[in-house]
Amino acid sequence: MPTPLPEREAPTHILVVEDEPSLCQLLVNNLSFEGYSVAAAGDGGPALAAHAAHRADLIVLDLMLPQMDGFEVLRNLREARDEVPVLMLTARGEESDRLQGLSLGADDYMVKPFSLLELVARVKAILRRTRAVDRPPLLRSGPFRFDLPRLEARWEGRILDLTPREFRLLEILITHPGRTHSRKELLQLAWEPDARPSARTVDVHIANLRRKLGEDQDSAWITTVGGEGYRWVTPVEPLSD
Ligand code: CA
Repeated sequence: MPTPLPEREAPTHILVVEDEPSLCQLLVNNLSFEGYSVAAAGDGGPALAAHAAHRADLIVLDLMLPQMDGFEVLRNLREARDEVPVLMLTARGEESDRLQGLSLGADDYMVKPFSLLELVARVKAILRRTRAVDRPPLLRSGPFRFDLPRLEARWEGRILDLTPREFRLLEILITHPGRTHSRKELLQLAWEPDARPSARTVDVHIANLRRKLGEDQDSAWITTVGGEGYRWVTPVEPLSD
């Protein structure tokens, strides 16, 4: 009998990216007070690293940052097809910046100085809006359960120890069951645009993934399709939470 999933609800995680320490602290304090788990970064690079290590449900992103600005952070996220909601903070009079931010896929923006109460209200509104539409359900396939927002895959209740890249590959396959993905396609979807290795690297990651999924002669979850690519064959169905 598979062990049932524990009934736990991780707090919504927010990443605050702001280089002005006093404002950053104020944002962290206010959002923590609302019951969110909050992380902070003072520049774009550390922000992307923090998000990769612990995926945020929403990012409050200041536009002007010391080394990598908010636009660059947003561009990086969207190019990697990461649709994490982003609330941009801009300085007064940066109308063209606001438009650029929205065109790059920011969900909302606020002009400094802003009221903290309003910021909290906007955060809640964005989370409500995006949760209702895009929050992917829990999925089940064979003996596996997948929680995409939490990057968790379980095999009969046990959490699999996957790297973020392996999880990303798995996510691509299970969200399109029965469809063959070429190596090139997987490279484009699972690797950053400026860090794409060879197709052989995809094979290596898929081999590791298969091993962690416990594949053997009797159970093959990922099918190799001739010289073409890979596909997930077992039906995938939503699991209501
Ligand atoms: Ca700033």
